[in-house]
Amino acid sequence: MIAIVGAGLSGLICGKILAENGEDVVIFEAKRDVGGLARCFDYDKYKLPVFYHHVFSHDHITLNVMRELGIKDFYKKRIKMGISFENKIYEISWIKTLFWDFLSWQDKLKFGTLAIKTKIKKDWKKLEGKNAEEWLRKEVGKNVMKKIFAPLMREKYGLSLKEISASELAMRLKEGEATGKFLYPKKGLYEMLMRLKKEIEKYNSEVKCSTPVTKISLGSKACIEYKENGRKKRTKVKTVITSVPIPTFLKITKGLPKNYRKKLEKIKYCSSICVDIFYSSPLSDFYWVNVFDKSFGGVIEHTNLANLYDFKFAWIWKYAPGKLWKFSDKEIAKLFIYEIKEIFPQAEIFDYRVFRDPYASPLYDKNYAKYMPSIKTPLKNLLFTGVATTYPEIRTMNTALKAGIKTAKILLKEMENA
Ligand SMILES: Cc1cc2nc3c(=O)[nH]c(=O)nc-3n(C[C@H](O)[C@H](O)[C@H](O)COP(=O)(O)OP(=O)(O)OC[C@H]3O[C@@H](n4cnc5c(N)ncnc54)[C@H](O)[C@@H]3O)c2cc1C
Repeated sequence: MIAIVGAGLSGLICGKILAENGEDVVIFEAKRDVGGLARCFDYDKYKLPVFYHHVFSHDHITLNVMRELGIKDFYKKRIKMGISFENKIYEISWIKTLFWDFLSWQDKLKFGTLAIKTKIKKDWKKLEGKNAEEWLRKEVGKNVMKKIFAPLMREKYGLSLKEISASELAMRLKEGEATGKFLYPKKGLYEMLMRLKKEIEKYNSEVKCSTPVTKISLGSKACIEYKENGRKKRTKVKTVITSVPIPTFLKITKGLPKNYRKKLEKIKYCSSICVDIFYSSPLSDFYWVNVFDKSFGGVIEHTNLANLYDFKFAWIWKYAPGKLWKFSDKEIAKLFIYEIKEIFPQAEIFDYRVFRDPYASPLYDKNYAKYMPSIKTPLKNLLFTGVATTYPEIRTMNTALKAGIKTAKILLKEMENA
């Protein structure tokens, strides 16, 4: 039997491919439902993503997986993205940038020149070894760096500019999150998760939800201990594939070589909180607004991309919340909703939910490549999958699926050659 720990997207797709190829697979999932960071919750008669989720038009793997599962209809839009300062929203676009009154003409020129440069230039190798602060100070000056890039990186990745590599940031700017088309399946994200689960079960393999793995023992034989219906159980397995956050993996795993464990201990994560709000009419016509001068990092109006429900719905998000993490859900919601009403005084919010995750994303700092785990490990019966293995590609559904597919292929090949 092959045990996969974690039924996020990487675990699910990996399990599906192995099951299709005749392997006996059991996926253990701690939560009540599958999907991991892309999981959904029940509200009224709907299933809504716990954390904001959309698909980019360049997410070819996500789109292929969805199509293979029979999900073919999407909302597809070039969305409006903005930055909010002092309760005013500035649109991010080539032309609109000229009207940003919080930047001087010189700053606008520098900002625009960098935007063009990152679009045209293909190779940023000469930036290798430099951090983003050194590079940006030279390219756009202190003002633009402090007003735009420093808060953007802090809010989105939980990192200071000094911790990010310059070449990495240049590549991210080239990808142009703000300018591409955004998609969302008309049947919802939950449909993909359910169809993946069904595919696995079709081949007599299993997805066990509400079944946390409490111990992974590695050695010449691998053994998994888990809790099912409140009872402790254990089973011997041929191979373990782990997709859980690295700190969780280290906590539950015995039998790792010392040096290998030390390397994995260097991987840190960024936490995240989302206050999901329900309201009666759109806050604005923006889909995504980055907010740099409030307690949260931004607001994403889901129903401005996918108007699927009898109500309007948005995520107010915050990465690396620091001391806010200790606030109760009620306190967080009160604070975020109070501040969102400063930007959108007309908002009629009638309900909310709060979700948080201590391991929302690995911290892909400039040294990440040095300690990133490969899919293959020093132990024959252990493989990694998931977004900890995908750098320099950062965490998305696309990279999670890519990792899951890659892990399944590696294992199938190894078994074929054994
Ligand atoms: C706020 C936020 C917004 C995002 N927005 C987008 C977006 O718009 N578009 C996009 O493409 N991607 C987005 N992502 C990223 C995307 O959700 C992730 O990259 C992807 O879902 C990660 O999948 P994974 O399988 O690698 O890991 P995970 O989803 O983390 O899966 C790991 C699984 O392991 C389980 N687990 C943990 N411990 C145990 C245990 N002891 N036993 C059993 N199971 C366990 C967890 O419950 C989880 O289900 C977003 C993520 C966040 C946090």
